[in-house]
Amino acid sequence: MPASLEPIKKIKCTYEDCDLSFDTEKQMRSHKKYSSKHDYCAVCNMDFESCDDLAMHKVFRPDNHNLACRICGDEFKSKSGLNRHIELSHKIDQKLPCLGCGEVFYRASLMVEHLEFGHCQVVTPEQFLGHIVHKHLVTELLKGGSAYDRFMQKISKFDAAQDYEEEGGIDVNDVLDDNEDEAKRVRYDAIQPEATPVEVTHLGSYPPLPSQSGASSITASMGRMSLGRASETVVGSENGSAAESSTKGTSTSSGRQLKPWAGRTSAKLFPGAKPTPPPCEFSIEHHDHQMEQEHGINIMNTRFWDPRSPGDFNPERFYDSVIQLYFCPFICEQTFKSIEEMDNHIMSSHRISRMKCPSCLKYYKSVTALMAHCESRGAKCQVNKADDFNIFLNKLTGGFLSVEEKVRPDHLHNPTVMVQDVDTGRMAPYTPPAARYLQYSASRPVDWKEPGKVAAQIGGKEGAEVFEYKGRLAKC
Ligand SMILES: [Zn+2]
Ligand SMILES: [Zn+2]
Ligand SMILES: [Zn+2]
Ligand SMILES: [Zn+2]
Ligand SMILES: [Zn+2]
Ligand SMILES: [Zn+2]
Repeated sequence: MPASLEPIKKIKCTYEDCDLSFDTEKQMRSHKKYSSKHDYCAVCNMDFESCDDLAMHKVFRPDNHNLACRICGDEFKSKSGLNRHIELSHKIDQKLPCLGCGEVFYRASLMVEHLEFGHCQVVTPEQFLGHIVHKHLVTELLKGGSAYDRFMQKISKFDAAQDYEEEGGIDVNDVLDDNEDEAKRVRYDAIQPEATPVEVTHLGSYPPLPSQSGASSITASMGRMSLGRASETVVGSENGSAAESSTKGTSTSSGRQLKPWAGRTSAKLFPGAKPTPPPCEFSIEHHDHQMEQEHGINIMNTRFWDPRSPGDFNPERFYDSVIQLYFCPFICEQTFKSIEEMDNHIMSSHRISRMKCPSCLKYYKSVTALMAHCESRGAKCQVNKADDFNIFLNKLTGGFLSVEEKVRPDHLHNPTVMVQDVDTGRMAPYTPPAARYLQYSASRPVDWKEPGKVAAQIGGKEGAEVFEYKGRLAKC
C-alpha cells in the first residue's frame, strides 16, 4: 500500500523547510520544541536558524533563561555549575610541541607522558627527571635559610681545600705521568659549548654561589691526585682534558686551562702576578668558565649535582679535605669515601619517585599522573585554580611546561546588552559571564642543553625523594 501524504492542516510549522502542519498552534509549538531538526526557544517562542544562534539567544536573555552555555545552550542555576560544565564538556585542545622532537600534543599530560616514559626520540626519561630534580633542589636552595647556609658551608670547604693544596706545592706533571693513559682513556669527547648564549644572559640575575674565583676545578683534581687516589678521579671531562693539556703544555679546545696560581691565596701572595691569559679561540664554555670564576657557579642552569653532566658537575666542590670525605650536594648530610660512592648515592637516593599534589595532598606515582590530575579542571581538587599554579607546574615538569589562564576564544565576543530587570521592570546593562581556561605552553628548562651534547641522567631503582611543592597555593 503506498504511503499517503499527510493532509495539510490549518497550522503549518513556521520553519520554511518543514512541511508538517498541525490542527492547533500548541501542537505546532510542541513539535518545534521536541523536533531535533529545529532550534526553537519555547520559552520566548522564537525560531533560530542554528543551535549556535539559539545558545547565544539564551546567553543574552537572563530575564527568560538561566545561565546558559554559549556552546551548547544547556542552562545552569549557578555560575559555578556553568563553569564546571564548560570545563568538563567543552575542553579546549592544547597545542604543545615537544622541545626535543617537535611532536605536538593536545593535552599537557600527554606531553609529559611522552617525556617521562621514554616515547621521545631526543629527550630521555632520565634527562626529563633530571630537570625536575634540578628545579626541586635549586628551589630548596634559593629559599635561603638553613638549607642554603649549609650548602654554602659545603662549598666553602672546597675553597679551603683549594688553598691548602696550593700551599702544599703539587708537582702536577709527576702525578700526570703516572696517570696519562688513564686520563686519556676517560677523556670526554663532548668538549663542546654546553650552554647557549641565551642561558649565559641569565648569569647575573640569580644569587650566585660563594665565589669560586680562581678556584680552578682542575687544580683541585690535581691536588687530590697527589694524595694517592688518582684512580678515583676518572669521572669528568675536566680531569681528562686537563691532564692532556698539561702534559702537552698547551690548552685544549675545552678552553679550560690549568691555573696552578689562580687561587685566592695565590692572589694574596702574588698581587702583582698577571692572570693566566685566555685561550686564543673563543668558546661559550670558556666564557661560562670565566663567568663562573668571576661570579661563582650559576646554580639555576648548572647541573652542579649531576654526575651525568660532566661539564657542570665537579665532585671536588663537595669534598671536605679535613675529614677527607665527600658531602652529598643535596640537602642531605651523607658523606662518602669516594666519588663513585657519591655518584651512586646521588643517582639512587635523590631520584624523585613520588609526586604530591599541593592542594589535595594526594600522592602520585608519576609526573604524568599528577599532571593529568591537574588538568582535570572539573575535579574537586583546586590545584589548578591556585594563583601560583604556573610556578607549581613549572617545577613539576622541570620547566618543560608553563600555563596561563585566559578567556576562552569562544567567549571573547561578549557584548553588554540592555535587559529588562525582572524585579524593577527597568532596562539595565547586562554582560554574561565569560569562561576562562588554562592555556598550557611548552617552555624551555633553564638547565636545558641542546640534545646530544650532554646526557644528564638520574636513575636507580629505589628513589627516596618526594616532589613536594611547599609554595603558597592560594585558593580563588
Ligand atoms: Zn517543523
Ligand atoms: Zn528564549
Ligand atoms: Zn555546553
Ligand atoms: Zn619528543
Ligand atoms: Zn644525599
Ligand atoms: Zn590535587
